[in-house]
Amino acid sequence: MNKKALVVLSGGQDSTTCLFWAIDRFGKENVSAVGFDYGQRHIKELECASGICKDAGIEYTVINTPIINELSANALTRAEIKVDTQKPEGTPPNTLVEGRNLLFLSYAAIWAKTHDIQNLVTGVCETDFSGYPDCRDIFVKSLNVTLNLAMDYDFCIHTPLMWLTKAQTWELADKLGVIDIVYNKTLTCYNGIAGEGCGSCPACNLRRRGYEEYVKMKN
Ligand code: ZN
Repeated sequence: MNKKALVVLSGGQDSTTCLFWAIDRFGKENVSAVGFDYGQRHIKELECASGICKDAGIEYTVINTPIINELSANALTRAEIKVDTQKPEGTPPNTLVEGRNLLFLSYAAIWAKTHDIQNLVTGVCETDFSGYPDCRDIFVKSLNVTLNLAMDYDFCIHTPLMWLTKAQTWELADKLGVIDIVYNKTLTCYNGIAGEGCGSCPACNLRRRGYEEYVKMKN
């Protein structure tokens, strides 16, 4: 297993925390990042990711995957579909993009192998998984086996946030010395507002509750 690592970086809180986790674990010189332009509503998140990488001295590449938008109509890719404010009973929220992590990690793996990178890092998390099936640990483990077989290569997919609560993700950012960067420079908000966000969408609520819980934990 080599020390080179590729982070799937969307510019949100989770993937940005993973970027700094990877820098800490593998060394800055071994880390690079990719993001995906799939026609998401808020292309601004890729600008956030690119700015964060620039400041950190990390190479960032955007891969165009418009096919994801062509195939999947949902609230993150279509402006005319409003984001659910409440999680519907028994079904995932309408921000689900079917198979998104399957595709992202597969594209990332192809990129990684062509650059001799064996470690893939993703911010998926089962604790707050909101009903997204491709955020589950069992899915990531299964995909790791599949990718290794598909490309005859030893990938290792790292999921540092898999079992963390949002408060613990803030704690990790704090331990890594980057809580200010994560707080101010990332975009999690479904309404496309960086930093503290709009304050009222489900993503902002989850993020703020986690932050408040962490601050309470710390004091
Ligand atoms: Zn928001």
